[in-house]
Amino acid sequence: MMIDERWLFYLAPLVFVVVIHLLLRRRSERKSLALLSEARASGLDEPTSLHPLIDPVLCIGCGACVRACPEGDVLGLIRGKSHLVAPSECIGHGACRAACPVGAITLVFGTERRGVELPHVGPDFQTNVPGLYIAGELGGMGLIRNAIEQGQQAMGEIAGRLKQGRRDRSLDADVIVVGAGPAGISASLAAKVAGLRAVTLEQEVLGGTVSHYPRGKLVMTAPAVLPGYGKMKFREVGKETLLDFWKEVIARVGLKIDYGERVEALERADHGFTVRTPVRTLRAAAVLLAIGRRGTPRRLDVPGEDLSKVVYRLIDPRQYAGRDVLVVGGGDSALEAAATLVEETDARVTLAYRGAGFARAKAKNRSRVDAAHAAGRLGLKMETEVRRIDPETVELERAGQVDRLANDTVIICAGGVLPTDFLRSVGVEIEIRRGR
Ligand SMILES: Cc1cc2nc3c(=O)[nH]c(=O)nc-3n(C[C@H](O)[C@H](O)[C@H](O)COP(=O)(O)OP(=O)(O)OC[C@H]3O[C@@H](n4cnc5c(N)ncnc54)[C@H](O)[C@@H]3O)c2cc1C
Ligand code: SF4
Repeated sequence: MMIDERWLFYLAPLVFVVVIHLLLRRRSERKSLALLSEARASGLDEPTSLHPLIDPVLCIGCGACVRACPEGDVLGLIRGKSHLVAPSECIGHGACRAACPVGAITLVFGTERRGVELPHVGPDFQTNVPGLYIAGELGGMGLIRNAIEQGQQAMGEIAGRLKQGRRDRSLDADVIVVGAGPAGISASLAAKVAGLRAVTLEQEVLGGTVSHYPRGKLVMTAPAVLPGYGKMKFREVGKETLLDFWKEVIARVGLKIDYGERVEALERADHGFTVRTPVRTLRAAAVLLAIGRRGTPRRLDVPGEDLSKVVYRLIDPRQYAGRDVLVVGGGDSALEAAATLVEETDARVTLAYRGAGFARAKAKNRSRVDAAHAAGRLGLKMETEVRRIDPETVELERAGQVDRLANDTVIICAGGVLPTDFLRSVGVEIEIRRGR
């Protein structure tokens, strides 16, 4: 049978388009599979908090969720169905769920294999411990805008409750806000507007998790109102611009935040709560925990760790130019810190890790470290532990042999201690969510 030439004229471009589409799709599936196997090999195949659960029966493989995710290659299509291919990169934006045309996505906490512990929080943001409130990501509600909303709503509830009774002026504060991330900032602003005597304690710097984002990260958020200031209008904004904006808000409103002060203990008392930090003990009627879920940096607990040259993350590599820097750890943040210092400065960098290999880190970071080491720019000390830190040196031990290195700065990237034990110690009930 002869095919009419006119049909060929129309069919050829169609076949061309279909072939190109199939080739692109195959390439993207290969990339998704590679990402998923890398996540599995690095042990990063479990999402840390809120994440999409995709129903494979409902999924029609349209890829709308993949395109909608603002964090990049978090979702991917494999054999025509959407999968979470980089689970640990998911931050629970929920843009995928909104984009799915067939309702195949639900957002859940935890998985069957790895449960997520969430504190019990009532609709008024109060825990089962009267007077102890939780706002922001610690309670399970991540994202900047949600944290801002919750911070001020929780403070509204606290103000309402405190105004019902007689305020005890002998206390150090009506309310203590712990944490100065988005939830803590907005709660502290709301406390000021409500005329409460509030103390805000932050173990690190302003901005919480936002201050830890990679340099120049594009932050996706939504407009929100900051009490006493007005509207925060951003939808897409660079990390640094957002932090500068919050600094300006705090200065304009005249809010005082006590930085570098970590709350180490919280005890219930007749007056409300006693809060202990390394430098003081404070008494308050109520406490709002806005401490997020990243936890507190894990310490090595070695002599000299309290020296001011010891830090727990790399903020600005340029400040270490020309210096002797020891990075400690074997996960992504340690490898990233060491590689970035080598790539962007002339610092003399050594990476020390107690394990024999960097199996927990992403392939990309392992190759950066290998390249820096091969070029003679990065010293590697494997199966090595830090024994003590002195003002101008550090002492490292490997298989009983002690080595002393010249040192100006130690950057410890040994992970974080999750806040769950801290919550339990005050009696807060914790629930384990397993992806349902
Ligand atoms: C890589 C990454 C990218 C993200 N991108 C986005 C994005 O584009 N858009 C978005 O909306 N969200 C994003 N998020 C999520 C967002 O950053 C968090 O949901 C939000 O910061 C939560 O705010 P929070 O105030 O509840 O907690 P946090 O921001 O975590 O702040 C908690 C603060 O409490 C302090 N703290 C903890 N323990 C103590 C203690 N014992 N004593 C004193 N202080 C303490 C911490 O130092 C910290 O400053 C991202 C998250 C990550 C990890
Ligand atoms: S948007 Fe929904 S249907 Fe389309 S690929 Fe994603 S989960 Fe499947």
